[in-house]
Amino acid sequence: MSYNITIIPGDGIGPEVTAAARICLESTGVKINWDIQEAGEAVIKKEGTPLPERVLESIRKNKVALKGPITTPVGYGFRSVNVSIRKKLDLYACVRPVKYFSGVKTPIKDVDIVVVRENTEGLYAGIEFKSGEEETKNLIEFLKKTNRAVSPDSGISLKPVSVKGSKRIAEYAFKYARDNGRKKVSIVQKANIMKFTDGLFLDIARKIAGRYPDIENESILVDNLAMQLVQNPEKFDVLLLPNLYGDIISDLLAGLTGGLGMAPGVNIGNEYAVFEPTHGSAPELKGKDMVNPSAAILSGVMMLRYIGENKKAAILRQALSDVIKEGERVTFDLQSDNKKQKPSGTREMAKAICKRIYELQN
Ligand code: NAD
Repeated sequence: MSYNITIIPGDGIGPEVTAAARICLESTGVKINWDIQEAGEAVIKKEGTPLPERVLESIRKNKVALKGPITTPVGYGFRSVNVSIRKKLDLYACVRPVKYFSGVKTPIKDVDIVVVRENTEGLYAGIEFKSGEEETKNLIEFLKKTNRAVSPDSGISLKPVSVKGSKRIAEYAFKYARDNGRKKVSIVQKANIMKFTDGLFLDIARKIAGRYPDIENESILVDNLAMQLVQNPEKFDVLLLPNLYGDIISDLLAGLTGGLGMAPGVNIGNEYAVFEPTHGSAPELKGKDMVNPSAAILSGVMMLRYIGENKKAAILRQALSDVIKEGERVTFDLQSDNKKQKPSGTREMAKAICKRIYELQN
């Protein structure tokens, strides 16, 4: 049995972490035919777009992809390829499990939380009107006429939150909790201020919660959540969040469990699943063979489970966990402060994981 899977190496540190994940996945013995698809700034010159149709076609055909991060210029330039992939393939749920691994440098150990983030709507959808442009002026005029005056030189972002979008992500979160032996879903929002968007999200999530009497639910404002996650992360189980809050809280949780190098994830819809680390392309670390490949490898573990290779997923996770716990062949961010030796590179850590996979299987 072999699997056809799309791999998007991405840019920045993307090619390094996806290569590491790839050799670890292959070491488990699962046969994968990789369909390599380049995307991002580097392909614009040749193909006129950072996201050529062939990339989406490949994912549509294979149904499953492993993706590295892709750079989005900050404050100018083309819109995020990552957001486009999620929207075009309707990958409406972003699932990011965050768990403490023994040996990781962090003051807080009791973290075992799953983020379920709405992935297609809200402010993160990037529907924007530039300051000074004609349609922005029209919008500002409309706002003025309806007693919602804003400064005439404003840029404006819209925050659409739909009934359909809220229903399906809430359903996903509660079903995920039930299917994965989780006990509680916290519905995260700022509905005291944004009553028609976050309020709608909360209202619908509460209705869906009613259909899951076996799963406890609570509602919590996102600012309060941020504080409580730092003080008492053990109080939380599954977090259901609108898009932008999910983006920010995911990084906070990564910070609590050893940094972005440890945070895996998947963007998933009814038909397709794109597995990718939470972290970005970290351009400043590109090509240095020094970043932590764990987030990409753990995304690979999630991918193996998704395709039904549960035993191999468990072996890969165990191998990674053992290497981190031993602490001898780990990257700079995982190395304990009293270690004198040089930290391992991305490749060396991946090789140590492959060796451990071999030991576990023989
Ligand atoms: P980033 O995640 O790239 O980096 C944030 C910090 O984490 C940096 O200090 C970086 O060095 C560190 N870091 C990230 N990955 C690491 C790893 N594997 N091991 C060790 N340290 C790691 O976030 P950023 O700097 O805000 O964004 C850089 C670019 O990435 C931007 O263009 C952004 O749009 C893009 N981005 C892409 C995705 C994606 O493709 N899904 C996600 C987030 C950001």
